[in-house]
Amino acid sequence: MVHVITQACCSDASCVSVCPVNCIHPTPGEPGFGGSDILHIDPDTCIDCGACADACPVNAIFPIDRLGIDDLPYAQINADFYTDNPHIKSGWDAVEYRPAVTVGPEFQIAVVGTGPSAGYAVRELVARTDAHITVIDRLPTPGGLVRAGVAPDHPGTKGVLAGFDLMYRHPRVTVATNVAVGTDVTPAELDAHFDAVIYGVGASQARALGIPGEDLPGSTAATELVAWYNAVPGVERPFPDAPARSRRAVIVGTGNVALDVARILLSPIERLATTDIADRALEYLARQNVHEVVLLGRRSSAEAAFTAAEFRALQAIEGLDIVVAEGVDGDGNPRVPAFPTPADPDRRRIVFLYQSSPVAALGTDAVDAVRVRTAGVDHDIPADLLVRSIGYRSVPIEGLEFDDAAGRFPNRAGRLTGPDGAAQPGRYVVGWAKRGPSGGIGTNRIDAEETVRSLLEDVSAGRLTGGRGLGSDTFVTLVGGRVGDVVDYRGLRWIDRTEVARGAPQGRPRVKFERVSDMLASTRRGRRR
Ligand code: NAP
Repeated sequence: MVHVITQACCSDASCVSVCPVNCIHPTPGEPGFGGSDILHIDPDTCIDCGACADACPVNAIFPIDRLGIDDLPYAQINADFYTDNPHIKSGWDAVEYRPAVTVGPEFQIAVVGTGPSAGYAVRELVARTDAHITVIDRLPTPGGLVRAGVAPDHPGTKGVLAGFDLMYRHPRVTVATNVAVGTDVTPAELDAHFDAVIYGVGASQARALGIPGEDLPGSTAATELVAWYNAVPGVERPFPDAPARSRRAVIVGTGNVALDVARILLSPIERLATTDIADRALEYLARQNVHEVVLLGRRSSAEAAFTAAEFRALQAIEGLDIVVAEGVDGDGNPRVPAFPTPADPDRRRIVFLYQSSPVAALGTDAVDAVRVRTAGVDHDIPADLLVRSIGYRSVPIEGLEFDDAAGRFPNRAGRLTGPDGAAQPGRYVVGWAKRGPSGGIGTNRIDAEETVRSLLEDVSAGRLTGGRGLGSDTFVTLVGGRVGDVVDYRGLRWIDRTEVARGAPQGRPRVKFERVSDMLASTRRGRRR
């Protein structure tokens, strides 16, 4: 009975390295790896050992006879990959041995961030060094974009956090969250306390479209909207409580984030009510009036950025019509579908409109339409909400070099570079902050391995020595004096347990706290017990 990889695959390739017959592709290094679509098991080579299922951090691999109803098509999808890519061969022909480098217990290393890239970096450091590792995050809760970005209706994907949690409770790891680097503590202070610092701070800022009306109420960034429905503290609902008008939202961009937002806006409320979506969003979406989402792709459908797995997730929503409209017909003439006002309230519909870009957000007090150029022709689409989902930028940190044009931290193979372009020994970067906002969760595993390899090479070459930093205890005392509550591993567990307990009576995985003060109150209650 062969195994099959399903929608929740995070492509971190943990399965690839444990497969005894190398039958999972694409592997890191093969074309196609690093996009966020799934990996595939070769049914002709799989020996049904189950090692891949055990290693999968998101529980995405099942024996073919135990596939759930939604996952049944994946048996064919896995097999088709090998028919479509006959050059890919299963079976082992090479084993890579890593050089041994000694990084002893005198090394103090800080990892800033608790998202996937930081989590994988901690895992790699725990596995490959004897260093002490201090994990820092600005929020009390760990997870970065897994908590703040992954859609609430994709719970399997969040399973990756369980693996990182095992690392945070490791005896060589100190957790110090609720500490913001750049405001509560400076990079120079981190340099003084740690022999090396790895910044895995992600990319949480939206890119702007630069069109008139972009700042009107009702126009927002996917980053804000996603943070709002995922209960990120301090994020208000990024659009007004609009009266029922057009019942339509326009989303710019056709990446996976755009599809996530569209799915959440159009999902029946009963579907969302079983997830860990923020209570504030659940309450609002229960009375919201969006019946149609129009996604604007500036290129053709063949060039859309979303992955097939995410498109299939849309198809799984009951009662949702999916319309794909190329902006030009077969003769190359513009073709603009009609968008009546309001959208049909008895239906839920998603329209992919290609060869189309927004020209302006229209309205006086708030957005009431979006002017769109489709294959050179301008037309207005009535809409209550305009969401730009065109990518992310990192937020600069004072005291660290920043590439403003690229929106990320300049680096070479994960070594942060200074104004002269030279690597700054002891400062490293990982994940979206390093390479920009591309790739799914699993891409960060390979990325983190590269950054940690650079750190080990620096130790090996004598560019980095241990025992210089003041250390973790001194650091926690310093920041404790500034922020009051530094949250340790026990604190993380208390927040987690409390959220899970809040969700249990409603049959939800958890009910997330929406305020930092509530998270901290939970850790204090935990300390008193
Ligand atoms: P993305 O995949 O890079 O998509 C960005 C979209 O914005 C593209 O359609 C792009 O069009 C469009 N765009 C960019 N600039 C534009 C402009 N000035 N005007 C109009 N359109 C513009 O980014 P994302 O959706 O933010 O996702 C970020 C990463 O996270 C991706 O790698 C994604 O796969 C991953 N992710 C994965 C999942 C999942 O696996 N479930 C979920 C969420 C995110 P062009 O293609 O024409 O440039």
